[in-house]
Amino acid sequence: NTANSGNTALIHDPSTYLIEKEPYYVPVGNEITLFEAAYDNHLPLLLKGPTGCGKTRFMEYMAWRLQRPMVTVSCHDDLTTSDLVGRYLVKQGETVWVDGPLTRAVRTGGICYLDEIVEARKDTMVVIHPLADDRRIMPIDKLGQLLEAPDSFCLAISYNPGYQSVLKELKQSTRQRFVAIEFDYPKPSLERQIIIHETGLDEAITDKLLKLADMTRNLKGNGLEEGASTRLLVHAGKLIAKGVEPRAACQGAIALALTDDSDMIAAINELIGALF
Ligand code: ADP
Repeated sequence: NTANSGNTALIHDPSTYLIEKEPYYVPVGNEITLFEAAYDNHLPLLLKGPTGCGKTRFMEYMAWRLQRPMVTVSCHDDLTTSDLVGRYLVKQGETVWVDGPLTRAVRTGGICYLDEIVEARKDTMVVIHPLADDRRIMPIDKLGQLLEAPDSFCLAISYNPGYQSVLKELKQSTRQRFVAIEFDYPKPSLERQIIIHETGLDEAITDKLLKLADMTRNLKGNGLEEGASTRLLVHAGKLIAKGVEPRAACQGAIALALTDDSDMIAAINELIGALF
């Protein structure tokens, strides 16, 4: 259900948000089989991998495939338990309870996808634990309720193990509840196919983007925190397809997006200049 009035943002009602059109997704391994087997066994899922490598697109595809409504929450360091569970709000002088996205997903038997879970406050994890083991329950303290998740409910979280920080590691007590699926950038033949599909570019220029990606990925740990993701290649490709000069497109969508370090930007710009 989508409401859109004029130029305002699209408002999705997540409790009824079903993905109707098949999302474009190119399988990269056995992830669909693994996900379905875990889902059938009511096991929660942990999607591991760098940013921009297709985890969200995969979740959208699985939600469509399983015909379940999906709620996505991008976690951040201010995210509290109430943001997920719900809170009392004053509306027209009356205090009303409003379910949070996690509660809505549990009530409707949908999929709740918590993106970049380690960004959330540590105490937020507490609410996830009873949902992520065989109890599959969710206590709502403020309502004095204990929700039991229906079989169709699915909890999935994503995590980028690449960021080397003790603060941003997933605790054993959390990670050992999940079936993990590992994601990485698709292999070149698949990444080529994806970029061509998403941007409409031809193979020759796509291959240059792939080469550039490969070079930046080799710089990971040598001045770059991450190399260019599939997402950045798609961004650059879309700019080029709109007529932006390839060097300018790659500088904007890739070099400047990756880092603020001026030496590193100069180095990437040199690679761009050599390719395009
Ligand atoms: P993540 O959630 O891992 O940060 P996304 O799912 O948002 O990354 O992927 C970024 C973009 O890369 C997508 O919007 C899509 O264009 C493209 N993409 C990456 N992997 C795939 C794939 N396997 N199939 C189709 N598109 C993909």
